[in-house]
Amino acid sequence: MFAARLHGPGDLRLEDLPPPEPGPGEAILRVERALTCTTDLKVFRQGSHPALGSLPSPFGHEVAGQVVAVGEGVKNIAVGQRVTVGNSAPCGQCVYCRRAEFSLCTNLVFFFGAFAQYARVPARIVELNLHPVPPGLPAAHAALVEPLACALRAIDAAGVGPGTTVLVLGGGALGLMLARLARLRGGRVAVVDRHPERLGIARRLGAAATSSAAAAGELFAPGPDVVFEAVGQPGAWEEAARVVRPGGLVIFFGGCPPGTRACFDTGRLHYQELTLRGVFHHHPTYVRQALDLIAGGAVPAELFISGEVPLSRLLEAFKLMAARQGLKYAVDPWAD
Ligand SMILES: [Zn+2]
Ligand SMILES: [Zn+2]
Repeated sequence: MFAARLHGPGDLRLEDLPPPEPGPGEAILRVERALTCTTDLKVFRQGSHPALGSLPSPFGHEVAGQVVAVGEGVKNIAVGQRVTVGNSAPCGQCVYCRRAEFSLCTNLVFFFGAFAQYARVPARIVELNLHPVPPGLPAAHAALVEPLACALRAIDAAGVGPGTTVLVLGGGALGLMLARLARLRGGRVAVVDRHPERLGIARRLGAAATSSAAAAGELFAPGPDVVFEAVGQPGAWEEAARVVRPGGLVIFFGGCPPGTRACFDTGRLHYQELTLRGVFHHHPTYVRQALDLIAGGAVPAELFISGEVPLSRLLEAFKLMAARQGLKYAVDPWAD
């Protein structure tokens, strides 16, 4: 089979490999579509990720496909079913899992290997985070569950409800998903980004859109109740804490480059009683909810997928993303 594997920083190779066989509890998918993600771009450049393990490594984590083989003991899923994958599963035993803080699990199992014709899904993910795709739902749309699950968790953490004023810094795929979900909860939403194309999508999702955080802040005088930072740069983290209203909440959603720092006005944090909070990742409950929202059309998946490429042109899709052209690309591993 053809599969993309990461060999080191900037070194992604398309290889002809033997198709995987399922071990106990595992499942093998015939990949229908995989999606590119900005995390993939980051990992591709760095050549490493804490969860990736040894190189060369299978690569890509947003996927939907058909189950073609299952290992010993698999009962919850059958050969022939179409499924989508939440890309991790918590252990259920560690100190964090016992507090239901699943994204902090010290023993998370991750899935990698979406950019291939066949993919192996680890046993614990088969058990906890593999979800049947409703009939008729395109695979590329079903593969969108992973990022949407992350956004759902952040919306819950922020307690967005009817009338909440929400500012989203960053109109990438995740920022736009946060905006859509906040609208679905009844929030009043504005998205800040420099790219006209992204601002256009924000408006189609029901949000106001502008290129200036200050202008967006004025929409919601004395400032938004909640600011989601979805850029992943320290400057944007600082800006989020500057524009939120007194008593407001900032959710740091975008991961910054390793080792970077941000600087905050202590007086503003203290006397204006700001809450600053990081949110990272998802867990199986959110993946299930995300799939329902996509299948029901409440989150229009097609707006987040900018085009389709064969696996052999995966690097071109990464180049487009690096140039901020388009949001996500669907990869068809069976096209020439
Ligand atoms: Zn992702
Ligand atoms: Zn755990």
